Amino acid sequence: MHEYAVTKSMMEIVLTEAKRANAKKITSINLVIGDLSSIIDESVHMYFDIFSEGTIAEGAKLIFKRVSAKFKCLKCDIEYEKPKTGFECPQCGMTGKLTDSGKEFYIESMEVD
Ligand SMILES: [Zn+2]
Repeated sequence: MHEYAVTKSMMEIVLTEAKRANAKKITSINLVIGDLSSIIDESVHMYFDIFSEGTIAEGAKLIFKRVSAKFKCLKCDIEYEKPKTGFECPQCGMTGKLTDSGKEFYIESMEVD
């Protein structure tokens, strides 16, 4: 049910923004979802269909962009994307610390008419 809340707040943001821009219709919404955010695209789609019905966002295309989780190596002071296996720093092999990158969910941009 996590997606219910995030999709609802996403709707509020896009409708407010569209109103401010005097848009008649929202045609597409670009969303950024972190790999670790546990948000399922299909669920967002499903709730979006429900919430957008009868609004200017109805029928808008949702475009999802996935971003990988990032780790920080405290020894080398670098950030790196999670390797395919494990969590080790590519430079020194130490296990890095998980950063907030990868947990995000936000609206990158949207197209309106
Ligand atoms: Zn390192």
